[in-house]
Amino acid sequence: MSRGEFDIIRDYFRRRAGQREDLLLGIGDDGAVVKAAGELAWVVDTINSGVHFPEDAPAHVVGHRVLAVNLSDMVAMGADPRWALLALTLPVAEEAWLDDFCDGFFRLAGEAGCVLAGGDLTRGPLAATVTLLGPLHGRAVTRAGARVGDDILVSGTLGDARAGLDIALGDGAPADGAEAFLLNRYLYPAPRLALAPLLPRYAHAALDLSDGLCADLSHMLEASGVGAELSLAELPLSEALAAHAPEEARRLALAGGDDYEIVCAVDPGQREAFMAAAAAAGVSLTRIGRVTDDKELRVLDEAGEPEPLPGSFRHFGDHDA
Ligand code: ADP
Ligand code: MG
Repeated sequence: MSRGEFDIIRDYFRRRAGQREDLLLGIGDDGAVVKAAGELAWVVDTINSGVHFPEDAPAHVVGHRVLAVNLSDMVAMGADPRWALLALTLPVAEEAWLDDFCDGFFRLAGEAGCVLAGGDLTRGPLAATVTLLGPLHGRAVTRAGARVGDDILVSGTLGDARAGLDIALGDGAPADGAEAFLLNRYLYPAPRLALAPLLPRYAHAALDLSDGLCADLSHMLEASGVGAELSLAELPLSEALAAHAPEEARRLALAGGDDYEIVCAVDPGQREAFMAAAAAAGVSLTRIGRVTDDKELRVLDEAGEPEPLPGSFRHFGDHDA
């Protein structure tokens, strides 16, 4: 490191870490101490340069992203993300890069109300790991509670981030407003923080979308021992995606990753109250299908004909492991 590790921790991380009364001991000792009562949720996610973000991504994109993907997991559990740990591996310690990283990280931490309680700093290929800890809003929302007859709801719009990734991997320069929107959706995933307290009240099961709707929903269906029928025409598409890739938009919505939207299974009798509460908190929810009892995922087109899906998404529970 070109500067002392402890100077960096003090100047960049400790200075901006934030404070909460329930963080009894923060950055500077061998470990952090928090005050908690009851059940907590605990998540960790690593992002690696060239794997989870482009090698030339700006530092604030990296800082935002490593926190955003973890916040999204906490939201999907119905948990309040209060305390973060950050392990950062850097090839070199450049002040401008660290500043920019911290801008991305702490802006989102402020929005989410979480503080940085500690971390680690090492030299090596660029990678960042965050772990978040915090109390449940009532009960844990798992992948396993979906019931036959539930409505399947999804937040926001689907497929935008996958289209944005192509723009980032191209020349990275958006050609118009639609491309700028899509690129932004990829670079700055927006965890649906407002849903965290609502999911335990309204949802039987939930998860966040990192690998794509079919891939991720299949995890919920498998964990719940059920199937689902989705309607292609109901998938929520942004105007930008519909304009940018009219032919491909629905395929991107089904299979594209990195959206970090929330999918959940909700009793039909609760659907309207949930949608109204989410809308009041600034999140749009769309009904995209229903839970079925046949352990298959089917997507129907406008004519009611099954849309072909990659085989691995179709059947659940047919194997022992
Ligand atoms: P130790 O050698 O005991 O593991 P470190 O030298 O790694 O301690 O860290 C010293 C202190 O600085 C600890 O409180 C640790 O949590 C904090 N810290 C280290 N790196 C970071 C970071 N990237 N962000 C926030 N806090 C950090
Ligand atoms: Mg120590």
